[in-house]
Amino acid sequence: MKYIGAHVSAAGGVENAPKRAYEIGATAFALFTKNQRRWEGPPLTRENIEGFKKNCEKYGYSMNQVMPHDSYLINLGHPEQDKLEKSRNAFLDEMQRCEQLGIELLNFHPGSHLNKVSVEECLNRNAESINWTLDQTKGVTAVIETTAGQGTNTGFTFEHLAAIIDGVEDKSRVGVCIDSCHVFAAGYDLSTEEGYQQMFKEFEEIVGFEYLKGIHLNDSKKELGSQVDRHDNIGEGKIGLNSFKLMMQDERLNEIPMILETPNTERWPQEIEMLKEFEATGSVQQ
Ligand SMILES: [Zn+2]
Ligand SMILES: [Zn+2]
Repeated sequence: MKYIGAHVSAAGGVENAPKRAYEIGATAFALFTKNQRRWEGPPLTRENIEGFKKNCEKYGYSMNQVMPHDSYLINLGHPEQDKLEKSRNAFLDEMQRCEQLGIELLNFHPGSHLNKVSVEECLNRNAESINWTLDQTKGVTAVIETTAGQGTNTGFTFEHLAAIIDGVEDKSRVGVCIDSCHVFAAGYDLSTEEGYQQMFKEFEEIVGFEYLKGIHLNDSKKELGSQVDRHDNIGEGKIGLNSFKLMMQDERLNEIPMILETPNTERWPQEIEMLKEFEATGSVQQ
């Protein structure tokens, strides 16, 4: 079975996210556990924590259906020591928030080298940052997201992800999230059936499905290999509907959160409905 949802708002408190997910027909959801554009956020209160757990139960979400995203400011591969430490501390705080909420996955983007260190060194720093954080937490898996390779971002090839995983000591608590828009922009052509199968064949050989913990479902406004990260609504971008039909029929993607981050949030209920129908029938009723 597929768990299909969207990155819902946590405005007013994280405890509001499960209800918002339920209202759009989602069987999975993502959220920010603090303001994603700030370094610091107020600590979670008992009301936040108990409310979140209670509402997950009430609306039928178990913890393998929930995958929060960390702050956009964090760069776990930062070339400068003081800024690297700032990022590590902020990431630790995010992991601890997940621990408090009983959440088992935390999705983040691998860092940027900023042309100050090599890609290899940046990947090593990412792995060291993950080790440092996992040592101080329990029960939460660090989920590395594939990137489009914009700017000096690392993480746009499966080899990059494998290199980070290779440097992580506790392999039971590291995983990967494939963002369909990002991999397409990075040059993996999942818009055709042949390209789709080829991409997942490479993924299996280089990373391995045992590490696949989540999917971000986005179409792409930009061309294959553009290395530009611009999400589009499902079926309206350069990837096209066929790829999403293939994903919904792919049993290797069962029982992990599949999260829409598409720009028109009002369309999420229809997109979720359509994806569920792809899963059920392999086609769409117009
Ligand atoms: Zn992301
Ligand atoms: Zn994403």
